[in-house]
Amino acid sequence: MSRHLTHPRDEIVEFMQRIYGYGMTTTSGGNLSIRDEDDDVWVSPAGYDKGSLTPLDIICVHRDGTADGPHRPSSELPFHQAIYGVRPDVRAIVHAHPPALVAFSLAGEVPDTRILPNARLICGDVGFAPYELPGSTALGEAIASAFSQGYDTVILENHGIVCSGASLFEAFQRFETLDFCARLSIEARRVGEPHTLSDEQLGFIKGDSHLVAESDPGTASSRERELRTMMVRLIRRAYDQMLFTSTEGTFSCRLDDDALLITPYGVDRKRIGAEDIVLVRHGRRERGKVPSRSLQLHQKIYQRHADVAAVLIAHPPNVMAFGVAHEPFSTRTIPESFIMLRDIPLLEYGAQYTDRDEVAGMIDLQRPFVIVENDCVIVVGSTLLEAFDRLEVGEFSARSVIGAAAIGPVSSLGEQQVADLKDAFGIR
Ligand SMILES: [Zn+2]
Repeated sequence: MSRHLTHPRDEIVEFMQRIYGYGMTTTSGGNLSIRDEDDDVWVSPAGYDKGSLTPLDIICVHRDGTADGPHRPSSELPFHQAIYGVRPDVRAIVHAHPPALVAFSLAGEVPDTRILPNARLICGDVGFAPYELPGSTALGEAIASAFSQGYDTVILENHGIVCSGASLFEAFQRFETLDFCARLSIEARRVGEPHTLSDEQLGFIKGDSHLVAESDPGTASSRERELRTMMVRLIRRAYDQMLFTSTEGTFSCRLDDDALLITPYGVDRKRIGAEDIVLVRHGRRERGKVPSRSLQLHQKIYQRHADVAAVLIAHPPNVMAFGVAHEPFSTRTIPESFIMLRDIPLLEYGAQYTDRDEVAGMIDLQRPFVIVENDCVIVVGSTLLEAFDRLEVGEFSARSVIGAAAIGPVSSLGEQQVADLKDAFGIR
């Protein structure tokens, strides 16, 4: 683990811009804080435009209550301090009013993180704090009471969400993952009834099959450098399009007969660089790097299908709505969807961890897009760009199908129209 060298004021600005940029807070709502090793609390200013925040706008509040900075600290600072008071392990707090989580706050419910194994792992159970006046001592007490029970994510009734962490990145990751969970739950309820995972099923993801032996990578070929650059560009794009969250979602590429390149485990997808991508040659990982936990599944798919050159695992929320509701997602809607995605199988949860051969046998270039219930979509392509395009087409198509259902009965392509498409585009 490298030393953390970013100043709290720079980190707060970076994450505030990220939260604002992804539509998870309005310009005046939401606030972030970091408690440093001297117990000074760095916090975003009150009522300031999130779009033009700079590091010099961040306020430092000392233990004696005095503050340094050009603005007043956030009016919601009292509840941040109340949380720090009851939880010595908490070093950073994210608070905002993102629409999907506010929807849960208005309905008086907490999102169920058991719909996805990683959401459960990152967010745990979600607490609930009753409504109190913003900025009041009573609000601070209600929120601190929930955090003192051990929750790291708490829905505030008729208000928003608070997430804590040992770092601002950890608090942000919980915030972003819970927001994703909330958006996914809402979409899944438009499609059917969301299903949740049992403790046993949630336990499947805790393997370490990705920690294969290490070896020295040697000199990178031009082809390897080209692929690394392309992977980074598309990984960042997938993150910006919210097709996956900051530390989930895996891209891999076949480099040659003996090697593949794959995204690392636990590295922020927003900041990922070409040097973070992990080379795996002859089944050995590049020294000092940890590949995605799904490494074995990628390897099995490449071994089985010589024509597959890229494998993507992602969580596009509209496609996953079908995966969480266990409802079929039909691509027989517009030619682009059927040609690019074909018919989409819905795989039962679990085999991607317990029987990777079976999953590798289910996916190939004739059936390039599968949904794994309550987990992910797996997409393959003869190039990275083709697989990425499929991922986007899948999410667009799912959004259209869900939208159409709200307008009226969905009109599908008939058998003859599908047969004509197969003929015209050489689909088996
Ligand atoms: Zn608020």
